[in-house]
Amino acid sequence: MLHRELKRRHFLQGLGAGAVAASLSGCTQTPVNKGFERPFSRNPMVAPRISANNIITEIVGHRPYRAEGFVVRSEPFGDKILVHNYGHGGGGVTLSWGSSALAVSEVKNAEMSNAKGKKAAIVGGGVMGLTTARLLQEAGWSVTIYTREMARHTTSQVAGGEWGPFSVHDPLVSSAAFKLQLQLAAQISHETFARMVGDDYAIKWIELYTASNTPPKADSPFSQFYPYRDTYGPGDHPFPTNYCTVSATMLVETATFLRRLIQDVRAAGGEFVIRDFKDQDEIHALQEPVVFNCTGLGSRALFGDEGITPAKGQLILLPPDPAVDFLTVGGGSGKGPLYMFSRNDYMILGGTFKPGDWSKQLEPQETERILTESQAFFAGLPKS
Ligand SMILES: Cc1cc2nc3c(=O)[nH]c(=O)nc-3n(C[C@H](O)[C@H](O)[C@H](O)COP(=O)(O)OP(=O)(O)OC[C@H]3O[C@@H](n4cnc5c(N)ncnc54)[C@H](O)[C@@H]3O)c2cc1C
Repeated sequence: MLHRELKRRHFLQGLGAGAVAASLSGCTQTPVNKGFERPFSRNPMVAPRISANNIITEIVGHRPYRAEGFVVRSEPFGDKILVHNYGHGGGGVTLSWGSSALAVSEVKNAEMSNAKGKKAAIVGGGVMGLTTARLLQEAGWSVTIYTREMARHTTSQVAGGEWGPFSVHDPLVSSAAFKLQLQLAAQISHETFARMVGDDYAIKWIELYTASNTPPKADSPFSQFYPYRDTYGPGDHPFPTNYCTVSATMLVETATFLRRLIQDVRAAGGEFVIRDFKDQDEIHALQEPVVFNCTGLGSRALFGDEGITPAKGQLILLPPDPAVDFLTVGGGSGKGPLYMFSRNDYMILGGTFKPGDWSKQLEPQETERILTESQAFFAGLPKS
């Protein structure tokens, strides 16, 4: 109790009464930020520079979403073994190492794969295909990745890169067994990413501010992955929402991360073959005795999974700003998810989450909404 009260005072002292009043009324900037007790950074918090003039580019991607959750499963495939590893929705980067570890464990001890030599075909060269390839190589397999597109042109490249196992399934639809699988994949992935933090894989720890108007749930199944984690109530934080949970997470700069994984696969003898498979027969004709399906949304057409659907996302990319050393999630009108990820390559503003929307077009009204809501969200912070 005392701890919380001291923190509250720090927060208020740091912002100054004017800033708090401004944040409550939704009015604009009031400088002064000294003494604000941030969990990791010692820098004052400053508002990102957000304007339409600042936009470098915008991108659209389709999250491979399954309400029932992602599929990791092995099955006979004629005289081969087929292992599925697809359908990770808005958390595929987050879950990559963990989900791929579960997929690889399906065949690690399989008699058949040992008898025929440890040779695997991986279909799909996004984050799932690449992490599956690396884990197989580390277990002594030789791999070939067959893919329609290299990672730079995939959904994996579009991802904002926040480590967070969210927007992955519909908890009202998914089974208890899936929820356990998700927990396990998240655990393995978290440990793996945490061991890889650093510039070479472009992974860093960063403060995360999660804003909401209703009190955050106390029983999140993922709270153990978030250090510090404390919630500030109305008036005790600089954002125009009732609540703000302060924590930290990892941020994966997907472009660099994927590039590095490709280098690692190649350095360990892996090969890439550009192929666009029309059906399962073409895949079955591959020479390898074990096949991993890492085609994401492509699994709908290739394997007839009607449960997978695109969840369209639109992102705005602004110039990077090292002064903004934090992420925010939440706030806005609720018409779409609002977030800001400050990376070294870009500052990313999101976004949208539109299940069933296959269109690839940018939507100008969404750009306008994201910009306007983001400007309002940061109006209580001083400008740099
Ligand atoms: C806007 C947006 C923001 C996101 N933000 C985050 C985030 O912050 N954190 C997070 O964890 N996740 C995030 N995601 C989700 C993440 O991007 C996906 O879950 C993840 O990229 C899925 O990886 P994947 O390898 O399964 O699929 P993909 O990256 O789509 O790769 C699929 C591969 O399969 C190949 N393929 C498909 N069909 C065929 C075929 N017929 N023949 C041959 N090859 C084929 C493709 O060419 C591609 O190489 C975001 C996604 C979007 C769109």
